[in-house]
Amino acid sequence: MLGFTQLVLCDVEGEGICTDASTHNFSGLPGFEASAAGERGVSFLENQRILYTVPIVYEGSIFGVLAGERDKANMQALIATDGFDGNSVSCIIDRDSNVVISPTNLDFFFALDDLFVANKDPELASAVREMQANMQANVSGVIVFTTPDGVDVIMSYDPLETFDWVLLTILPADIISHDTDAYIQHTFRLSTAVIVLFSLILAVMCGIYYSHRRQLEHIAFVDPVTGGMNNARFQYSCRRVLDGAKPGAFTVVSLNLMDYRLINEIFGPKEGNDTLRHVMQVLGRHIRPDEAAARGEAGHFFLCLHEHREDAVIARLGEIRADVNAFNAQRETPYYLTLLAGAYLVQEPGLDITVMQDRADAARKSKPAENGRCAFYDAGITARMHLEKELVNLLDSSLANRDFKVYYQPKVRLRDGQVASAEALVRWQHPQKGFIYPSDFIPVFERSGDICRLDLYVFEEVCAMLAGRLAQGAPVFPVAVNLSRRHFQTTDFLQRFADIRDQYQIPGGLIELELTESIFFTVGDILNVKEAIRRMHELGFLCSLDDFGAGFSSLGLLKSFMVDSVKLDRSFFLDDSQRAHDVVESIVELARKLGIETVAEGIEAPEQVDFLRSIGCDLVQGYVYARPMPAEELEAWMRARHGGEVTQI
Ligand code: C2E
Ligand code: CA
Ligand code: CA
Repeated sequence: MLGFTQLVLCDVEGEGICTDASTHNFSGLPGFEASAAGERGVSFLENQRILYTVPIVYEGSIFGVLAGERDKANMQALIATDGFDGNSVSCIIDRDSNVVISPTNLDFFFALDDLFVANKDPELASAVREMQANMQANVSGVIVFTTPDGVDVIMSYDPLETFDWVLLTILPADIISHDTDAYIQHTFRLSTAVIVLFSLILAVMCGIYYSHRRQLEHIAFVDPVTGGMNNARFQYSCRRVLDGAKPGAFTVVSLNLMDYRLINEIFGPKEGNDTLRHVMQVLGRHIRPDEAAARGEAGHFFLCLHEHREDAVIARLGEIRADVNAFNAQRETPYYLTLLAGAYLVQEPGLDITVMQDRADAARKSKPAENGRCAFYDAGITARMHLEKELVNLLDSSLANRDFKVYYQPKVRLRDGQVASAEALVRWQHPQKGFIYPSDFIPVFERSGDICRLDLYVFEEVCAMLAGRLAQGAPVFPVAVNLSRRHFQTTDFLQRFADIRDQYQIPGGLIELELTESIFFTVGDILNVKEAIRRMHELGFLCSLDDFGAGFSSLGLLKSFMVDSVKLDRSFFLDDSQRAHDVVESIVELARKLGIETVAEGIEAPEQVDFLRSIGCDLVQGYVYARPMPAEELEAWMRARHGGEVTQI
């Protein structure tokens, strides 16, 4: 398998057997003694064959020698190389420069004999000396020289690890240089391709990077819903203009699209988003190059206007509001988008933009929701906000401690002077803060959203009162409970009221729900209110329209909404002119024709009562008869008034 012509196996004395089956004493073989002592050896037999000898070691001790003989031709085949298209020639020499294995093609070497032996060329002579030194030092190297027949050759010498031999390879230099040219060209082509490829990759990567950057910028700075600026971009832009601005040159405005969430709920999110986009487009049209407009959260927008006068800000906002609602010109039934505004005149341009926005927000929230107004920030607003926060913080404990008391104000029927019903009005009797009026906390809870919980509390108190009287067999009267418009933000809120009422087993028709007139302008969808009224009746509640005339009352409301009664706001009776009387008279007349009961609210003077009686108003509620009072007091009051009799329903 390994190309040996013969193998010999013998003991340390040299007694052994050969592969040709002959037995001899082989101790005379070259290298035998060294191998019997544990070394490997290689020797030459008649300069034509190579003899390898190796010790046979078993468990640490030498018990024999294995010798193998190979043909030289066999070795020559080994060093014959196909490299460089067969143009190279190799041989193996030992470190003393004796040839160990010569190549089959010896022409080269014969030709070289002269050269090396003659040593005519001093340069070559020194290279040869260097080579000899290197070989001794086990270092490989290259010699370049010209043969006597004028061929440039390269000779490399590589010391082999085995047996201190050295591999010599000689080849014509032009093969290398030819290959080198090809190699250089190839390398050039390759590197050009690599450069082009890398440039392409780089270009693509740059493209991807920039498009990612644009995307990131888009995500970071563009409001996905409206395509306008988002808040981060707004703050960035504001910072840039405000950094060089004088105090009081700019105004930051907070705008809130009233009932945006409701629009979402009633019309669906697409319509909601379209509305936001519409508002953003209008804002975009109205701002100048050094100003900014952005959307915050939900229906919340911010403006940074280059205005320093309140009237200028108000005028600009007026234009914006008109433009936002301009679409109504084409609509049969108008739908008004209300933008509530608060503004902060930037007196301290170095302030954090968020603080400026908070101030504008605080100003906006400081006044009741009312279209067309803009509240401006002042230091008092923050103080009031703190107070409001304090009230909101007190709510939970007060609900738990029953600090809220329900007072009742009777509604007197003008026809017979009997108490027809009463309105439940909440009072806050705080153990530390003292008596707090609804006007001081109702708007606060309206803004914070806690009003719904309070309304449910009042409603339950009313049910408990009625249930107590029913249980005692005492006479009961219908009670009107106020419902905040905030309830309309949740679907089927009425069911919760009905559940509480049923829990107390209060018969239908004993509870009236008062909806404030502004609900028709704020809830947005008239159908929704119509549906709520229908549902109230279905659940056995009466429904009354409160504060009629306080806002943008329309007689059309009476026609469209199937309410049981309408409460004419106190403001109607503050004006004593004939004209005001005429208005009240026609409303009462219209209501009567529509089968709606009329209640005059906030009546203080007996002459007003006479007038109301003369025009056929059904009920009067006001200080002229009684102030709101606790249920027990009301009963006592009724007894006194009716000579001990309380109207039994
Ligand atoms: P409102 O529903 O319009 O209630 C009538 C208000 O007019 C009551 O004020 C009542 O005390 C007052 N009032 C009655 N007669 C006269 C009068 O002759 N002259 C004058 N000047 N005022 C009179 P109040 O109790 O301070 O309540 C204020 C508002 O707070 C209520 O107005 C109502 O909107 C709200 N409110 C009261 N209780 C509740 C409640 O439980 N839930 C809700 N959502 N709102 C409530
Ligand atoms: Ca009311
Ligand atoms: Ca009212």
